[in-house]
Amino acid sequence: MLKIIVSIKQVPDADDLRIDPVTNNLVREGVPAVMNPPDLHAIEAALQLREKYGGIVTVISMGPPQGDISLREAIAMGADDAYLITDRAMAGSDTWATSYTVSRAIEKLGGADIIIFGRRAVDGETQQVGPQTGKWLGIPVCAYTKKILDVDEKNKKIRLEKETEFEIETIEMPMPLVITVTEDSNTPREPDLEGMLRAKTFNVKRFSKDDINADPSMIGLAASPTKVIRVRPPPKMRNAEIKNANDDLKGSVDWLISKIKESMTGMKTSSGVYEKPEPVTKVDHDIWVYMDHYDGNVNSTSLEILGAARRVADLMNTKLAAVVIGDEIDNIIDTAFKYGADRVYAGVTEGYKNYDNDAYTEALSLMIKKYSPEAIFYPGTSNARELASTTAIQVNTGLIADCIIFDVDEKGQLLSTRPDFGGKETSTIICPNNRPIMVTTRSGVFSAMPPMDKKGDVIKEDIKDLKTRIKLLEYKKLEKRNILNDADIVIGVGRGIVNRDNIGIVEDLANRLGAVVGVSKPLADMGWYPKDRQVGQTGTTIHPNVYIAIGISGAIQHLVGIQGSKKIIAINNDPSAPIFENCDYGIVGDLFTVVPELIKRLGEQNA
Ligand SMILES: Cc1cc2nc3c(=O)[nH]c(=O)nc-3n(C[C@H](O)[C@H](O)[C@H](O)COP(=O)(O)OP(=O)(O)OC[C@H]3O[C@@H](n4cnc5c(N)ncnc54)[C@H](O)[C@@H]3O)c2cc1C
Repeated sequence: MLKIIVSIKQVPDADDLRIDPVTNNLVREGVPAVMNPPDLHAIEAALQLREKYGGIVTVISMGPPQGDISLREAIAMGADDAYLITDRAMAGSDTWATSYTVSRAIEKLGGADIIIFGRRAVDGETQQVGPQTGKWLGIPVCAYTKKILDVDEKNKKIRLEKETEFEIETIEMPMPLVITVTEDSNTPREPDLEGMLRAKTFNVKRFSKDDINADPSMIGLAASPTKVIRVRPPPKMRNAEIKNANDDLKGSVDWLISKIKESMTGMKTSSGVYEKPEPVTKVDHDIWVYMDHYDGNVNSTSLEILGAARRVADLMNTKLAAVVIGDEIDNIIDTAFKYGADRVYAGVTEGYKNYDNDAYTEALSLMIKKYSPEAIFYPGTSNARELASTTAIQVNTGLIADCIIFDVDEKGQLLSTRPDFGGKETSTIICPNNRPIMVTTRSGVFSAMPPMDKKGDVIKEDIKDLKTRIKLLEYKKLEKRNILNDADIVIGVGRGIVNRDNIGIVEDLANRLGAVVGVSKPLADMGWYPKDRQVGQTGTTIHPNVYIAIGISGAIQHLVGIQGSKKIIAINNDPSAPIFENCDYGIVGDLFTVVPELIKRLGEQNA
């Protein structure tokens, strides 16, 4: 009989959020709250396991007293038991302190065979609490589980399928373990009447900090290694030039075509110039960038981060180093120099060519302890986020997720800014006391430096006798890369298109421009276009030379996914649509008039 614990989070409804002006923290009390939607998949996964193997499903949640509403929802779906971990002393916890607290509650419940989390929480989007809880508990972790294949209760083993952006792995792991499940792993069930009635009168039990024997110095805001110092509306980054097609259709369309062409040619050289900033401080240790690699090749997002971290290293008057963990890594070391590293720290993990959370956490932690970097920047890829999470617990430091802007203040502190609360605000976060400061970065936001002919010191460590609890049974490279990531021009279509058939005119335009079509969330949700073409916070973050938003209003969740575009162009018939405040060039007009005219004029100009 399996013992399963699901850890869920209640999240504030994004539309009703308020920030406390004194503490800069999100005010949760009094704000309508909902169960974090990805956690429904964690509950469903647990219920399916119970149906197949028998067992008990206990759901836990940490948060203010109103959290019992979401726990009751879990009971209504079919969970057996529910606990709310609630105590004022836990308020303001970052993921380090939250995962510690959740791990204490799991210990108090006597542990479990399988502990399941949703892949992410839609308010914070860190993807850290699941893997970090596993690390506190000292058990193996598999984030991004797409399928639970089978459980061998007798031998306490489980077989899973893990999917990242680039690969699918079939792995065998021992129980107990922590997994996080992806949103496409299952379809959560609706509660039935019997479940709803049971939930109504169900006694959700409460745990205080004392009930779970939590060390008071490890919980809450004071214990959290990372601190929010500022919460602000997202910065305005563009000054729009707008024309009205209702006044002059042909003139505005010709102007737009000239802007598209200018944007394409202007771009290619502009990224080549780097102006070295004056240092604002001097730190003694290097800034590291983790080189995420798959099948022997560096992932391009690591190279983008080298570009972002170069400026931070120069502001801190220190060296920019790459850290490479793995076996057969010469090619990766060369690539790190080519894209700007001054030096490379290489942890050679004999026998572990590909990422393995146990082995790589151990190896990276050894390198950190030996060479004490000031900060480590990780790309926002699945494996790098999982590794950063477990390593931050092992070396006892703070981890700031999904950053989009970096700066160094006059005191020499690294300021890391990230979209928060569904992109409604940006938070600037520091890690004042723990080192190294660790950050993951949003993919597609930063630009790599142009390749250069560069070499530098390689500091190599042979790391022997690494152990892993993860057995790789099968490894498949994903052939299908999301083509939105690689496109020079992306055309985004929104609800203004009215119906699925009309998308054809945008596809015609895309063919003329050699562009890839993306969509806003409602279109993907309605099945009008594949989910992997959704652009935005819960879709793909894109960074083309030109993004053309057609019939898209410019909701913040869409905007956060397109900020990496070098130029943004909008076509919308509502002059007050927010997209016009967030674009470089815009045409106010009916898309059903403007787009056919664009296609016609492009045809004439190319004839
Ligand atoms: C947690 C969360 C995550 C989300 N993640 C994403 C995400 O990843 N990506 C995403 O896109 N959204 C996301 N959303 C949804 C987002 O909030 C918006 O609802 C969505 O982006 C709106 O899509 P839209 O612009 O296509 O539709 P609408 O907001 O309905 O806008 C349609 C636009 O079309 C214009 N229009 C209508 N007719 C015409 C015409 N004939 N010619 C020209 N213009 C016309 C209208 O003026 C309007 O501005 C998320 C929401 C939440 C809560």
